[in-house]
Amino acid sequence: MRRKLVVGNWKMNGSRAANASLLAGIVAGLGTARAEAAVCAPAPYLAQCEQALAGSALAWGAQDVSAHAAGAYTGEVAAAMLADLGCRFVIVGHSERRAYHGESNALVAQKVLAALGAGLTPIVCVGETLAEREAGRTAAVVGEQLAAVLAVLDAASLARIVVAYEPVWAIGTGKTATPAMAQEVHAQLRAQLQDKQAEAGAAIRILYGGSMKPDNAAELMAQADIDGGLIGGAALKAADFLAIIHAA
Ligand code: PEP
Repeated sequence: MRRKLVVGNWKMNGSRAANASLLAGIVAGLGTARAEAAVCAPAPYLAQCEQALAGSALAWGAQDVSAHAAGAYTGEVAAAMLADLGCRFVIVGHSERRAYHGESNALVAQKVLAALGAGLTPIVCVGETLAEREAGRTAAVVGEQLAAVLAVLDAASLARIVVAYEPVWAIGTGKTATPAMAQEVHAQLRAQLQDKQAEAGAAIRILYGGSMKPDNAAELMAQADIDGGLIGGAALKAADFLAIIHAA
């Protein structure tokens, strides 16, 4: 049985004051939630997360990581630095990184290796655009995105990743994949993971992301291969984020 995981992606939102009240609100409402929960904050606020969340049941992480270990890479943040700030997770290959920063499948795979090397859990994002879905290319696109990562992993590291299926047309648009549409892609990803390594592939959590809200979370997460959510907009309100965590 895979434990559900709910991760908030704050994107480029927040301030010290807003984060303090959001984090306090989430921690206060976690109670006996059975799901694992985390927030992925902008890099400048990771130290604030560590201070506010150390010892709590809410984990924290980053939204991107450098593929390089250290050195002359101005503006980049190394995986070891994220680990130094107590991060457990890092989002890798989010569609906004792929679209606005030209991140290729090969670069995403290198970032996954960098994250694993520092002891972080990479949340590997895959997903098709609307044009790709309409052209009937969903299976091929997400299959290629995942294959590039699987190609660089051995069985032991495979067991340490989380995958997130995020149809690009559903992110921040209010359009959600139906539970059946999402499950179809999750089942494909599961089969691909199990092809690589049966046991690890069965245990890996595959999150759904794309306008997941309190009112659709339970139905999505009831699908056989949907093991939680990667939440954008709804992660910025403690009540909404908590409702999703408790729905998991
Ligand atoms: C995301 O940021 O990864 C995301 C899924 O955003 P939203 O929930 O707002 O669609």
